Amino acid sequence: MSAGKSNLIAGATGDWEVVIGLEVHAQISSEAKLFSGASTKFGAEPNTQVSLVDAAMPGMLPVINRECVKQAIRTGLALGAQINCYSVFDRKNYFYADLPQGYQISQFKQPIVGKGTITLDFLDGSTKEVGIERLHLEQDAGKSLHDQHPTMTYIDLNRSGVALMEIVSDPDMRSAEEAGAYLRKIRTIVRYIGSCDGNMEQGSMRADVNVSVRRPGEELGTRCEMKNINSIRFAQQAIEYEARRQIDILEDGGTIKQETRLYDSVLGETRTMRSKEEAHDYRYFPDPDLLPLEFEQSWVDELAAELPELPDDKKNRLMADLNLPSYDAGILVSEPEIATYYEVVAKGRDAKTAANWVITNLFAALNAQGKSITDSPVSPDQLGQLIDLITDDTISGRIAKDVFEVMIKTSDDPAKIVEEKGLKQITDTGAIEGMIDQIIADNPDQVTQYAGGENPKVIGWFVGQVMKASQGKANPGAVNKLLKEKLG
Ligand code: ADP
Ligand code: MG
Repeated sequence: MSAGKSNLIAGATGDWEVVIGLEVHAQISSEAKLFSGASTKFGAEPNTQVSLVDAAMPGMLPVINRECVKQAIRTGLALGAQINCYSVFDRKNYFYADLPQGYQISQFKQPIVGKGTITLDFLDGSTKEVGIERLHLEQDAGKSLHDQHPTMTYIDLNRSGVALMEIVSDPDMRSAEEAGAYLRKIRTIVRYIGSCDGNMEQGSMRADVNVSVRRPGEELGTRCEMKNINSIRFAQQAIEYEARRQIDILEDGGTIKQETRLYDSVLGETRTMRSKEEAHDYRYFPDPDLLPLEFEQSWVDELAAELPELPDDKKNRLMADLNLPSYDAGILVSEPEIATYYEVVAKGRDAKTAANWVITNLFAALNAQGKSITDSPVSPDQLGQLIDLITDDTISGRIAKDVFEVMIKTSDDPAKIVEEKGLKQITDTGAIEGMIDQIIADNPDQVTQYAGGENPKVIGWFVGQVMKASQGKANPGAVNKLLKEKLG
């Protein structure tokens, strides 16, 4: 089922459909690089994590890192994809100063992972399947720094040789919204299984965005590719700009040139970088330094059995076992840390109440402080304790919100705050009766209105007065019951 609305874009001469395929580069979370023992730690001094292999010294031999292979297999399994027990590393020839070998070791015709599928989730609860064409292993290049010196370019080879998984989608997406949902889902999956940290700001996940347009029902149009986009928002903006640009050209009677374009996030536009290379331009050939990669199916089975619960399974379980709406479940499983937090809060408590507290109150408070759930000042146990205080009538839902605000500031336990601030709910009917008697005595007009039945809302006014008199601490159920008795 698609997002339930038409994704067509209106042009001057009729409707157009956007077609999007994404190539995601996800850096594997491994200690060492794909073919060398150098460290992959982010943020080190330039050129301090470079082995002789990464610097492409003559005669050095690459040796494959088993951990990287393992993470690629796990990711393939999490994408529901075909795992190829036999795959081949090729040399993809091109020259950049930050690629000292003069070629990148990649996989071309025989990748480690073949076809798969992922399910996109939309906020309205609808879903859509997108095909994965392949996942292959390859080396990352180093970095050229053009802004360090007026006339020279500096090279940092720390990233050279770091393991990347390139995940290639089928051209199945039809809007910027769907592309955003796809990138979020890939990020969620790799984070769940820990094969990549999914950090787009630090560049450990980046996307090449392929966009074409066509009339609905026609063959695929010619595509342009925007490379190395490092935020979901930028990817969506690039798609919207690019689709409009192509539609305008076609409606003017022009044709689209297949090319690589750059997305300029400051100007919000795409520009030509270079015309598109074809696979034969790279003169791919099997890397003679590396044997084909072969492993047993039994290893794949073992890795499959050890995978943690995946986001789709978790979402389905929250909906089926806890009766959560798809919207809530989708948000709660979007990050493994959120899911873990929620499951502690919800354990032995009302699932929907727990979901509301996490999604509404906790997220708003964390947002306001610019914090993520991992550094939440309120632990999941404490949030659970707060819910317990409402459930056992120690405090009202109203007062709980105040207590929560204090918890966010002090990280104190809710029971301590309730005790210190004297916020315990007044369930003692004697005390409530006293307040009601006083209010009735002070407000004869409202009493008459109630008795005459002319204003049915006046009972609400009385409840409000009692709550005010009790500083919000009177038990609302008791107040209602006693008021009705006293007013007759
Ligand atoms: P390359 O490796 O040269 O970039 P691929 O054939 O592997 O080319 O395709 C790269 C990406 O482009 C894939 O994600 C694919 O889905 C997407 N793609 C292919 N054709 C189109 C098209 N006409 N419009 C949009 N995306 C496309
Ligand atoms: Mg490409």
